[in-house]
Amino acid sequence: MVSSREKVALKHETQKDILLYINGEFTPASSGTTIKNMNPFTNEQINEVAEGQPEDINKAVAAARYAFDNGPWKTMKLTKRMAYIYRIADLIDEEVEKISYLESLDTGLPISQTRKMVSRASENFRFYARMVESRLVGDAYQVDEEFINYTINAPVGVAGLITPWNAPFMLETWKVAPALATGNTVVLKPAELSPLSANLLAEIIHKAELPKGVFNVVHGFGETAGDALVKHPDVQLISFTGETKTGSTIIKNSADTLKSCSMELGGKSPIIVFDDADFERALDACVWGIYSFNGERCTANSRLFVQEGIKDKFVAALKKRVANIKLGDPLDEVTEVGPLIDRGHYSKVRGYLDIAKEEGTDVTTADIPAEIAKGNFVAPTLILNAKNYMRVAQEEIFGPVLTVMTFKDEEEAIKLANDIKYGLAGYVWTNDIKRGHRVAHKVEAGMLWVNSQNVRDLRTPFGGSKSSGIGREGGHYGFEFYTEQKIIHVSITDHHIQQFGK
Ligand code: NAD
Repeated sequence: MVSSREKVALKHETQKDILLYINGEFTPASSGTTIKNMNPFTNEQINEVAEGQPEDINKAVAAARYAFDNGPWKTMKLTKRMAYIYRIADLIDEEVEKISYLESLDTGLPISQTRKMVSRASENFRFYARMVESRLVGDAYQVDEEFINYTINAPVGVAGLITPWNAPFMLETWKVAPALATGNTVVLKPAELSPLSANLLAEIIHKAELPKGVFNVVHGFGETAGDALVKHPDVQLISFTGETKTGSTIIKNSADTLKSCSMELGGKSPIIVFDDADFERALDACVWGIYSFNGERCTANSRLFVQEGIKDKFVAALKKRVANIKLGDPLDEVTEVGPLIDRGHYSKVRGYLDIAKEEGTDVTTADIPAEIAKGNFVAPTLILNAKNYMRVAQEEIFGPVLTVMTFKDEEEAIKLANDIKYGLAGYVWTNDIKRGHRVAHKVEAGMLWVNSQNVRDLRTPFGGSKSSGIGREGGHYGFEFYTEQKIIHVSITDHHIQQFGK
């Protein structure tokens, strides 16, 4: 555990500029250009980040390719490879306080929340080490007395991993851990708005002394560095988390080189609260589910459908809670909602409050206190009396904004919940156990929770349907994405072979 003196020391640490990590070395971008990395709380510059270009992606992919084809990574004994993976997990544990600090400094996410997120990151590595140890098993097929056929799982090659800024370290490790544990080599392109913890991950992996070229990080913009990674012929797969529109561009751009793609995309998830729900627990979950992580959460319950019988009471309770949420410095332990990632995203979220007014809803929000006005703050907001066809009910706002609607009965709740292009998550609150299951079965989403907030066991599949994604991450689903299943047919007799041309 870190002492309070160490915490204060972290607060006064200036951040050195960030380099790319290619072939086991920290190196400037070949163009020499950098990106200014801004603090969302002060809008002052934190540091500069090497701006990777297609040339740098080429170098990183060449290093990863060489390490995959010629290095010991995929051929070394499993216990040895897993020892590296466990070592990375241990090193992450040693740095939890520093990683959470950097994450909050860089993204504006409150430190009490980044700490919880980061402490799960080491488990991603341990989980996938255990998974690979137990799952490297295949099927065997007896074919008469002539053949024996069996399957093996092989690593795929160079994995291109592209991640967003909203939970950077968690999402990076979620992809890096299964990719490395299964024997692939990696080029990670983290979000340009949140490079700090990705750089620390490179430092940690460097310290773990993985063979050169196995893990590479190229910072830079999506349209240049990310695009070059997606189009590179020596990259076999792309695991992407980000906006739906970007996902669709990536699928198109990866088509010429026929990559397999895993897509974790945007969401606008419903929370359905029936009259008979446990009122206080549903309220807690609803408030946490939209305002935690500053509302910048893919699985946020951003559309509330509350049954007519409890609507007034529920909305009154929501208003009270929302007015009490503590906005502030993301590095302050008591802060519940911090500033949004950058000015651009702030303007987008604020813009939706104007749209909400134009659409004729009632917007309940608050002014931002003068002492924090420099930050990208949007106060926790309720959009009341909305209709499901409105933009504020259909589009992903990705901020601390809850759109509130009502429903009459179960049938209407399901219809409204499904009348949207997204299908990432859904939450159902009712004390009627049959109805809970029924509704969960009918809501079109990849992940449903009944009488629960978003609690996830690492073994379960994570992902969305409709415009929220393609494929599943987590559990053995991740293992399968990062491995190629091969079938080996072996003849055990001199079976008949046609003798053409004899
Ligand atoms: P984004 O799509 O703008 O960027 C994500 C990453 O893609 C960044 O690294 C970016 O540089 C890169 N990128 C952008 N254009 C690219 C291109 N043409 N080619 C290759 N790479 C490109 O997303 P964001 O704003 O960083 O993140 C927020 C979004 O992520 C939200 O929509 C949120 O719902 C979604 N998200 C989804 C999940 C999930 O698991 N489904 C989890 C977290 C976030």
